[in-house]
Formats: sequence, structure tokens, C-alpha cells
Amino acid sequence: MIGLQPVEVDTIIVGSGMGGLGMGIRLARETERSFLILERAHDVGGTWRDNTYPGVACDIPSHLYSFSYRTKSDWGQFYADGAQIHRYLQDAARQEGLLPHLRFGTDVRQMRWQPDVARWQLDTTTGSYRCRVLIIAAGRLSEPRIPEIPGLTGFAGPVFHSSAWDHSVELAGQRVGVVGTGASAIQIAPNIARVAESVVLFQRTAAYVVPRADRTYSDAEMRLLAQVPGEIERLRSQLFWEAEAGFAKRVGLPAAVAEFRDVALGHLASQVSDPELRARLTPSYEIGCKRVVLSDEFYPALSTGAVALEPSALDSLHSHRATAASGAEYELDVLVLATGFHTTQPPFATRVFGREGIALSDRWSRGMVAHASTTVAGFPNLFVIDGPNASLGHNSAVHMIETQIGFILGALDHLELVNADVLEVGREAEDAWMSEIDRRSASTVWLTGGCSSWYVDDRSDRLTLLWPDFAFAFRDEVGTFDPRGYRVSRAPVAVAH
Ligand SMILES: Cc1cc2nc3c(=O)[nH]c(=O)nc-3n(C[C@H](O)[C@H](O)[C@H](O)COP(=O)(O)OP(=O)(O)OC[C@H]3O[C@@H](n4cnc5c(N)ncnc54)[C@H](O)[C@@H]3O)c2cc1C
Repeated sequence: MIGLQPVEVDTIIVGSGMGGLGMGIRLARETERSFLILERAHDVGGTWRDNTYPGVACDIPSHLYSFSYRTKSDWGQFYADGAQIHRYLQDAARQEGLLPHLRFGTDVRQMRWQPDVARWQLDTTTGSYRCRVLIIAAGRLSEPRIPEIPGLTGFAGPVFHSSAWDHSVELAGQRVGVVGTGASAIQIAPNIARVAESVVLFQRTAAYVVPRADRTYSDAEMRLLAQVPGEIERLRSQLFWEAEAGFAKRVGLPAAVAEFRDVALGHLASQVSDPELRARLTPSYEIGCKRVVLSDEFYPALSTGAVALEPSALDSLHSHRATAASGAEYELDVLVLATGFHTTQPPFATRVFGREGIALSDRWSRGMVAHASTTVAGFPNLFVIDGPNASLGHNSAVHMIETQIGFILGALDHLELVNADVLEVGREAEDAWMSEIDRRSASTVWLTGGCSSWYVDDRSDRLTLLWPDFAFAFRDEVGTFDPRGYRVSRAPVAVAH
């Protein structure tokens, strides 16, 4: 525990996932600023530290799901698994000299702007901190969503969320229920079916599943990538533009959507011969509306009976008995909740208080808003990474995170250039940005596809999580800080940078 005086630094980053570490690396490499990274857990890695479930892996090619300024020639798999990405992030933190900047076990409980000194005051589980610039990189898939299932707390066996896998629970010989059909559930079910006595998957809504076609890189390929100058960049560029084609499938271009749907339904038809099972696995909404999942193992696991499909939600639990909405009953020993995360209403927003003491969650009471997907009116010197309209359904989150990092560095440079300390976006600029987001979202499959998804805020039916355009457009529009629409000012008291 530190003393009563707050620790003073120029910049604080909350979170040490891909976003927080990426930001820290650039600050350490390119600036003289004092900064800390506050992390509630005891290691770096965010998503890839927490998600250790059987089969956890990335759906974006490894060479694209890594920092452009820390490429890696020896990714062994086309799609890295969770442990490999976690190690990559641990190595990055160590090799880039971030360890002295990291404060683990530090849960940031409150972040409050103090206008009299133009500082953010942070109250945490390890004491108080004060900073001029606050960068929140607390993640959008970091707060597990636990469904309210009657009887859940009285279930007679172990229950855990996919992002908090209980490795002490031995699944061999156990009857396991998996709730959900998102990306995690579809990775988990076939993997645990190899050891469990039985696995039943509770499916409220079917997912579109497309071929994964993972492969290992040969030694020769890895040598080529290591030795030929520019080869990794060439591969990254190729993978990036291949992924970009995916946006056409979301924006409503009928031919592209139909082709994508055909791929998914063709995959289903080729792997599931039973017409009844196939019908139960056929989604009733348009492809892309919910996250499209990559798997070559999921359908075979269902087809062979290794995983039983319950085509309705889990309705209630009583001791070992699980009752589905259809009325079907199952005896279970272990329950896995692959039920996703709090996305559109991030819990960190209840902890941030801006000018006039307004909570960010109140500013966002009708859904997350921001200018340039990064700054919020009423919240001076606050930057949010991977927050409102900053993620993608078709390409790498790292591209978006790096774009925002470039924007933030540009904003900080701008403050120095104009000899100011405080920067705040005006409401007009923010409103204009959000109108443009609404305009671009309107025709996308996320709003027209006939599903409910974690991309859309159910309080306003607005697309608040995803960027409704190509990833390259995000780089074009956000990659360079544009001071128009921002007010800058000097701090009321002298400040040292
Ligand atoms: C299972 C899974 C698979 C995924 N697969 C893909 C994929 O294939 N492709 C893709 O592009 N994206 C994928 N994602 C999304 C992934 O979350 C992002 O790609 C990226 O890792 C997010 O990084 P981040 O730093 O923004 O957030 P996170 O990795 O979530 O890190 C946030 C950090 O903030 C910390 N934190 C939060 N609140 C506080 C607090 N109050 N105080 C202190 N610390 C705090 C958390 O402990 C965590 O370490 C996946 C997510 C999951 C869960």
C-alpha cells in the first residue's frame, strides 16, 4: 500500500491488454513522459491472460494479430492460440522495458477529473494516483456477463464463465453443459467433448460457422519471413487486404452477402448430413449480423453426437438438473457459461467522472458516444482505446488499437505544440461524428440483419461497438489527430510534464 499522497505521473493507462501495452510501448519508445500502467490482475495480457479455456484461439491470422512494430517471424500457426498470444504480450512488456511502469493488483475504482488542478485523480486498491492524461484501455470483452438463470447459484456442481476457466475441475467422466453459441462456446464444446462423458450445448440462436483451415507454418516459411527483408510486411499487407474484403459482406452488398452465406451454409451441409440437425443449426438471421465463427471441428462434434445440441436456451437449474426452454431436461455435473461479456455498457464507465462530476455511464446512458471513437465531450484529457465504435467484425482489433494509439500520440504532441495542458472535444464535433456513425451503420447487416447482438446498444438500437466501415477508413480518418473541434487550455496551476 502506498502513502496518503497520490503518486503523480504525466500519463496513466488503465489496463495491460493489447491496447494498454501497445500504448505503453509507443510512449516508452517515443516520448519522455512519465507514465504508469495500472492493471487489476497480476500479469499482462488482458483477453489472452484471462481466456484459457480448451481450444482458445484467435480468429485473425497471427501475423495480423500482432503489433506492426513488433512483428514475429516464428508464429507457428496461421491462427495463434491464446497461450501463444499471451506469451507474445508478456515478451513485449518485458523486452520493451514496460515492467517498471506496470502496477499489478491495482483495480482502478474511481477516476475523477479535478478542474482546479487539471488532473485526473484515481482511487485504486493500491492507493491514489494523479495524472494529467488518462488513457482507458480496460477492454470491451473483459467483464463476463453472467446470465440470470433461476437456480444458478444452487447448481450442485462447479459453474464457471469461459473467461475464468476453472482448471482444477477435472472434466473426465463428467456431464458438462455449455451455455451459448458464440465464438468461445464453439471453440470449447468440441475440445471438452474429447474428455467429458457427455457435453450438451444450449443454443438459443444458431451461429454461422465458416471453414477455419488453420495450418502450421513450415520451418522454410518461417526462415523466409525471418530473413527476407520486407517479407513479414508483405504478408501482413496481403492478410489485411484479404480481411478487408469481409466488410463488403457486412455493408449489405447483396452479391457479397449471398456468397458469404453460401460458404457458411455449404460448410454446414458438407459437415452435417442429418437434415433435422442441419435445420436446427441454420441461423434465422442474415450472415454477419452476429459474429461469424471459424471452426472445422464444431459441426463434426455435433454430427457424431460427441456434443448434443439442445436447440433452446437454458431455462432453469435445480441441483444437478438443467431444464431447457424447450422443456428438455439434462443431468449435469459441470456448467460452463460461454455467455459473453458486458460490451455496450462497460462497467468502467460507472467509475469515470468528468467535468462537473458527471459519470461517463450517465453521458453514455443511451449508448457509448465519442469523437474519433476516442475522446468524449465533458471528459478532458481522457482517451478511450477499444471503446465506442472502435472494434471490427471483419479484421484485426490490433489495427484499430494502433490507429487510436497514433491518434492519442498526435493529440499529446498537439498540446505541446500549442503550449497547452488540457484538451477537450466539443459536443458539436462529437455529435457530428456520431451522426456520421449512424449514417454509415444504417445499411449494415448489424442493424438490418434481423438479430440481436452485443454490437448494438439495446437502449437506443444504435451500433455503438463496431466501426461501420473498412478498417483502412478508420486509419484514414482517425490515424492522425485533427485538432478541429477541440478546445485546449493551460492548467490553472503550473504543471511539470
Ligand atoms: C475469447 C476471445 C477471443 C477473441 N478473439 C479475437 C480475434 O480473433 N480477433 C480480434 O481482433 N479480437 C478478438 N478478441 C477481442 C480482444 O478482446 C481484442 O482483440 C483485444 O485483445 C482487446 O485488447 P484490450 O487491451 O482493448 O482489452 P483487454 O485485453 O480486455 O484488456 C483490458 C485490461 O484492462 C484490465 N482492467 C479492466 N478494468 C480495470 C480496472 N478497473 N482497473 C485495472 N485494470 C483493469 C483488465 O484486467 C485487462 O487486463 C477476442 C476476445 C475474446 C474474449
